[in-house]
Amino acid sequence: MSKKETETTDIIKCPHCNHLMEYVDYIVFGDMSGEFEMECEKCKKRFNVEFYSIYYFASNKLEIGE
Ligand SMILES: [Zn+2]
Repeated sequence: MSKKETETTDIIKCPHCNHLMEYVDYIVFGDMSGEFEMECEKCKKRFNVEFYSIYYFASNKLEIGE
């Protein structure tokens, strides 16, 4: 059994039938986080999806100067 009640993944998984779906059509770009309701394309049951944005940083020295 999983320790966490909610599993987080980088793709949407239907909680009813575990069908995997792309998420691009459901997120408004610029939203940092939020939630939406969608219908599984396989089993046609509705479920709720929460999403979060994560930033990654890479710092480099500038190439300008002597
Ligand atoms: Zn489903």
